[in-house]
Amino acid sequence: ANRELVTEVVVLGAGPGGYTAAFRAADLGKKVVLIERYPTLGGVCLNVGCIPSKALLHTAAIMEEVKSLDVMGVTYGAPEVDLAKMRAGKDKVVAKLTGGLTALAKQRNVTVLQGVGRFESPNRIGVETQAGRVRVRFDQAIIACGSAPLKIPGFPHEDSRVMDSTDALALADIPERLLIVGGGIIGLEMASVYSALGSRIDVVELKNQLMPGCDPDLVKAVEKLIKPRYDNIWLETKVASMTAGPDGIQVTFEGKHPGTELYDKVLVAVGRLPNGKRIDAEAAGVVVDQHGFIKVDAHQRTNVPHIFAIGDVVGGPMLAHKATHEAKVAAEVIAGLPSVFDPLTIPSVAYTDPEVAWMGLTETQAKADGIPYEKGVFPWAASGRALGIHRDEGMTKLLFDPETKRLLGAGIVGPNAGELIGEAVLALEMGADMEDLGLMIHPHPTLCETIGLAAEMAHGSITDLL
Ligand code: FAD
Repeated sequence: ANRELVTEVVVLGAGPGGYTAAFRAADLGKKVVLIERYPTLGGVCLNVGCIPSKALLHTAAIMEEVKSLDVMGVTYGAPEVDLAKMRAGKDKVVAKLTGGLTALAKQRNVTVLQGVGRFESPNRIGVETQAGRVRVRFDQAIIACGSAPLKIPGFPHEDSRVMDSTDALALADIPERLLIVGGGIIGLEMASVYSALGSRIDVVELKNQLMPGCDPDLVKAVEKLIKPRYDNIWLETKVASMTAGPDGIQVTFEGKHPGTELYDKVLVAVGRLPNGKRIDAEAAGVVVDQHGFIKVDAHQRTNVPHIFAIGDVVGGPMLAHKATHEAKVAAEVIAGLPSVFDPLTIPSVAYTDPEVAWMGLTETQAKADGIPYEKGVFPWAASGRALGIHRDEGMTKLLFDPETKRLLGAGIVGPNAGELIGEAVLALEMGADMEDLGLMIHPHPTLCETIGLAAEMAHGSITDLL
């Protein structure tokens, strides 16, 4: 029989955006229903994104790092990988976090409804649950339905050897030859994992550099390390066709590196599409653009005043930390608090080996827009700590406003770049300048010291490095 639930706030989708919004709204005294199609909370990030990928990348990084220890006279034999155990280890991390979310939802009396939800009217969502259809009547809604991997028409996506990121994270086997279509963050992270596990990797990218959007000097340090590890990195090259045959997936390339190759598996990581078109938003009057994005204002409000949207579905960088911050804004605005989403920057991190992290203004952007800047670069080859860990490929780059000397942007490449960028984000948000960063005492010998040293380079208080 049809059931009806009446609530103050409904949240559609339980990814980092959705669960954060649901919890914040409940903490602010609202009655909340959280709708999620999958049996676990956490969305892409916890189940098939940030968390499982980082668990695997950590393992991959150790496997690679062990090889560098022979400089210190320590050698190990070839690693023995038990893929089933590795899979179980990753799944355990995911289960711990998603299980934690279920407990947190219970604690707050958030009603979790499992099923696919679609708008029926501006104040009602219908949910197809296993026990039948449930209608949720709400005062206010937060759309947090996220995004899904982009598929390319004509590619044999139905063949299990043509993977998306979710399939690649499932770690079904270790293909001998793996093609990564798309040299962006997700493609390169998965390449790091499979390369460490022993796959021969080719990467093909349409643009003229890997990780489009990141400054080329940072990408160069990554290339230096991965070039000898991978078979081929083809830039300005397009996959013209892909056919599934009995011996493998045959791929034809055109552009700078034309040709035809046969692969055991292919990972297509060419971007993600928002899920905005899959929720019948028009029944609520919410405008969804042709790609599936939903436009919101700084309060995360859609064109319908009592309906909000957050996370991947609203556009901007598709990142978990953006989704969680937007989530708090939406929940707080609903609870009557004066919240706005107004970060000065949203940092980006590629957890490749080495890691790359950047925030604020990039040099590429500054050049394109004619924004004047002063630059301080500290190469890690001059860092005692970097040399001590046998990783001198890194660099720390800071951009400053020539007038005010305030920090405008930062880019870091090297191990732990993702952790290091936090200091730069704080500096930018607090309006710190060259002297603030250069004169504060960083501990020695550390990698974070390179941030102070890059500021000193820009200031001119160090001129000669080596
Ligand atoms: P999602 O996480 O996509 O969650 C949306 C949820 O809504 C899903 O659970 C979905 O099932 C549910 N849903 C959708 N429609 C309906 C419906 N009609 N009814 C019921 N439920 C519905 N970001 C980072 O910041 N750092 C990283 O390291 C990182 N690594 C990543 C690695 C990979 C391989 C991938 C794919 C992504 C990664 N991301 C990373 C991106 C990050 O996962 C997303 O930005 C984040 O998950 C977006 O959160 P969200 O809440 O908007 O949506």
